[in-house]
Amino acid sequence: MDNFLITLEEKARRFNKPTSFLVVDDEQRARESLVTLLKRKWSDITEAADGEEAISLIQQRQFNLIILDLNMPKKTGDQVLSFIREKNIKTTVIVLSGETSINKVTEAVRLGAYDIFKKPYSFDELEHSIRNALEKLKIEDEKSQIQNRLAHSERLHRYMVDNSPDLIYMLNLAGEFSFVNDSVTKLLGYEKSDMIGKHYSEFIADEDRLKAEYLFNERRRANRSNRTIELALKCNTRDPSKPFDVTTRPIELNSMGIYVVDAKDPKKLSTYQGTYGVARDITSRKKAEKLITFQAYHDLLTKLPNRAMLHDRLDLAIRQSERTGETLIVMFLDLDRFKLINDSFGHVVGDQLLVEVAGRLKREIRTGDTLARLGGDEFMLLLPQPTTRVQAEKVAQKLIASLQQPFYLKGEEVYINISIGIAVFPDDSNDINTLIKNADMAMYDVKATGKNGYTFFNDKIEHAAAEKISIESGLRNALKNDELEIYYQPQMDVETRKIVGVEALLRWNHPQLGLRRPSYFLEQAEESRIIEQLSDWVLRRVAKDLFGNQDFLESQIKVSINLSATDIRQKDFPETLVSFTEVYGIEPERLEIEITENMFMSDIQSCTHKLQVLANKGISIAIDDFGTGYSSLNYLRELPVSTIKIDYSFISEIERSGKGAALVAAIVGMAQGLGIKTIAEGVENANQSEYLEGLGCHLMQGFLFSEPVKIDCFLDRVSSQNSELSSLSNA
Ligand code: C2E
Ligand code: MG
Ligand code: MG
Repeated sequence: MDNFLITLEEKARRFNKPTSFLVVDDEQRARESLVTLLKRKWSDITEAADGEEAISLIQQRQFNLIILDLNMPKKTGDQVLSFIREKNIKTTVIVLSGETSINKVTEAVRLGAYDIFKKPYSFDELEHSIRNALEKLKIEDEKSQIQNRLAHSERLHRYMVDNSPDLIYMLNLAGEFSFVNDSVTKLLGYEKSDMIGKHYSEFIADEDRLKAEYLFNERRRANRSNRTIELALKCNTRDPSKPFDVTTRPIELNSMGIYVVDAKDPKKLSTYQGTYGVARDITSRKKAEKLITFQAYHDLLTKLPNRAMLHDRLDLAIRQSERTGETLIVMFLDLDRFKLINDSFGHVVGDQLLVEVAGRLKREIRTGDTLARLGGDEFMLLLPQPTTRVQAEKVAQKLIASLQQPFYLKGEEVYINISIGIAVFPDDSNDINTLIKNADMAMYDVKATGKNGYTFFNDKIEHAAAEKISIESGLRNALKNDELEIYYQPQMDVETRKIVGVEALLRWNHPQLGLRRPSYFLEQAEESRIIEQLSDWVLRRVAKDLFGNQDFLESQIKVSINLSATDIRQKDFPETLVSFTEVYGIEPERLEIEITENMFMSDIQSCTHKLQVLANKGISIAIDDFGTGYSSLNYLRELPVSTIKIDYSFISEIERSGKGAALVAAIVGMAQGLGIKTIAEGVENANQSEYLEGLGCHLMQGFLFSEPVKIDCFLDRVSSQNSELSSLSNA
């Protein structure tokens, strides 16, 4: 840019300055009269009396025009001319000479004189010659200025082209590079000389050749001459030992045809000369685009396709199968007890397990199959190629087998199982969402019937699913329509033969099906969380039934209420229960809650805390169905448990096998050791009751004493027990 400014300054200097003359003559009079004449027209006139003085002045400053005598002392005019020539000084010299020998004249012209006048001369002629010389000077000056400007402009454009981050190129008619800018080295690793003269197709990634051919031959005119396209260019890997190791770089290319108009005939169609274009490196844009697409279509944890991609692929596969009439398979996969692992090892380890599971499952499938993660521990597999049920079954078996080897989490061996539901297109549905839903239902059926297996969707599953839905809506109505009822089952102390407790058991008077027990509706109530409303209803009903009754209040009988995991998981569960007892004026000591072992498996800490709040208030806690859950006995030391209820299944085993009896004996012994009461559930006959009594387990509940009965019936028994007790104490 500096050069550019200098030329502008120079230009200003030249245009503003007046023409400068140097008049050199040893004859003073002749010199002075010439100066006088010149001064009438021009102002800047310097004199020199001999050649030496003239040379010294010429060295000091520039003169546009020098009028020079030839015959002079010290230095002659010829010598001055020689000096000017040698030093390459830019000026115009007009010679005045007394001699006109042809030799002298040719010598002066050879030395660069512009014109020669013989003394005496006419001033008019001289002036004419001066004006001619000045005119010539002016033209030369302008020419050189134009040249300067052109050179400068050329430098500027080259600077811009070579410093552009983009690759700028020109192709000749044959499609060979005739120009590339410096960026090519940085962008593609080639030297300019590697490309010049080579055909463009050598540098285009193979898959883009056709596209490029179209573009480079672009010859359209006017406003449509400009085309932008994305291509991949081959890079110079600079490793001759790896000729096939081709890396490519994505570029966005803008190219134009170059046309030259015939100057002689501008109306003639201009001729195509080649292509000019700019290629921009779009590697980072491509990377960003790729990442965005990846994120939109993949699960970031396992890198598997996500639900959106599965939907796309399934949609495509269904349309294909519709055309070919062939089947395709959709599998819904869900890990068993994953929540337990997540809760006990933490989410980081849970995530790690999911990644490893995904890896193992993926190894079992073919390239065309899609294994997607839908979220949590749910996966879905699509087998798009025609697959028979037998083949699908084999795949399911392989998937299950792939998880059989243990995983190592934090140095611990962990086993994980999987349940798989399979749906077949078009047999089970020809609609995407229904197909997925059916596979899901089949998977739930596997879970409900024992886990770690697979099953195909079938009518039974569909029917069960429909029933579930009708139970859910039926329960909502039951609450509104007063179809619920509590049955009460006494708990006996066989030593005193007295009722010491009573368990409240929920019943549903179904408008069509009649009286239903909880096994019919509890699971659905929990899943839909209607259970929270049910529990609330039970508590209020028990409060009214029992604590509003004088006989019951007078007795010492405790009431047991069954609660579900959902109830306990509620954040303010203990506070709600405590305030319930306060509102209904229930002594906490008369209330017991029954929970099962599995409820506090997942979060023993928060459970312990909540139950402790209740225990501190005096409410007792019983472990229901003891011995049927997964839990370790450890929790009995941590939780404030006052009672364990030995499950009905053990009691019924007492007479049938030695094992049952031994188990019951072990449970009773352990509870006694821990200072915890035991109640035997489901006692149906005297053998059982005698055996239990022999072990020291006096508290029993079962058909032997009473079935669950309606409130009036139960209160009658309480009333007569009260009177018996009072007559005994009166006696
Ligand atoms: P559970 O708490 O173990 O209740 C005892 C179950 O054994 C009751 O079944 C009862 O009718 C039955 N049973 C009592 N004595 C005998 C006997 O001698 N032989 C046999 N074979 N069975 C006997 P039910 O009423 O069908 O209740 C089933 C389960 O439903 C209960 O088991 C309890 O876990 C749950 N449940 C009952 N009411 C509620 C409730 O209000 N809320 C919640 N969350 N669960 C409830
Ligand atoms: Mg119970
Ligand atoms: Mg029970």
